[in-house]
Amino acid sequence: MTCVAPVVAVDIGGTKIALALVSEAGDLLAEQVVATATVPDPQAVWAPLAAALARLPLHPGEPYDVGIGTAGPINTPAGTVSPVNIPGWRDFPLVARVAEAVRSATGTPGEVVLAGDGHCIALGEHWLGAGRGLHTMVGMVISTGIGGGAVVDDQLFTGSTGNAVHVGHTSVNAWGERCVCGCHGCVEMYARGPALVTAARARGWSGTDGEQLTGSARAGDPVALAAIDHGMRAAAAGIAATATQLDIDTFVIGGGLAKAGAVVFEPLRRHLGDFAALPYVQGLELRPAELPNAGLLGAASLALSVTGRGPLRSRP
Ligand SMILES: [Zn+2]
Repeated sequence: MTCVAPVVAVDIGGTKIALALVSEAGDLLAEQVVATATVPDPQAVWAPLAAALARLPLHPGEPYDVGIGTAGPINTPAGTVSPVNIPGWRDFPLVARVAEAVRSATGTPGEVVLAGDGHCIALGEHWLGAGRGLHTMVGMVISTGIGGGAVVDDQLFTGSTGNAVHVGHTSVNAWGERCVCGCHGCVEMYARGPALVTAARARGWSGTDGEQLTGSARAGDPVALAAIDHGMRAAAAGIAATATQLDIDTFVIGGGLAKAGAVVFEPLRRHLGDFAALPYVQGLELRPAELPNAGLLGAASLALSVTGRGPLRSRP
């Protein structure tokens, strides 16, 4: 008999954790959202997640596979996570804990698959968003941070530890200042929302967040326009470097800042022309993301792939 059980998707961010029971068609059958604890206590972060998992309507005896997308870094071979913005979790054995929680709720083991949040956003857009119908693409987020992931021939390109295609921490300035990651001149230092806000404020703009900044830019404020232009030049350099390395011609871009639309995409595309120079990357296409919950759906896509369902090729 074909397995028709829905899957459990978990999307873990620095401010909230979302869980959902997701059907094979991508419908959210039940959803739970809890706040992410920011205290340095692993149990304080885990307990609300476990409680939310227990509130999902899981039927005893049915096998539920689980996909988890989380802020990184992660270690997929070890099943552990150490998200920079969740100080309570360092080498936290998330896969084992979730597997145990699902087994205790249903009495039946399910497989738990872990991926980075950027990877899950790529998977979500590949399945039901702007990457529908594409077999190979990069998904990216330009927001408080900058992340990404690649789907290659309908499989997630994980890399050895699950952190591949980390566009935000690709250096675009070898002489730049040191980044929080230890490298120098990373894309994220220049193109993340808070960096644009800081740059604009230093030149007299009085707003406080990225949404206000893109609003000011839309209204024609020259300082806001210049700050976005400067940041998107770094993002464009990072995108071109990634495309040049991977030879992938479609990037789907979402996240808080990218949601502002043309005011961000116009400078991004213009600067891209300066960096995507080799013939095979000159046709590089940047598409706005379509889904508000790509990370959660991407985690579901990953879970469905365990039993050969969903849009991904079965894993070997
Ligand atoms: Zn960095």
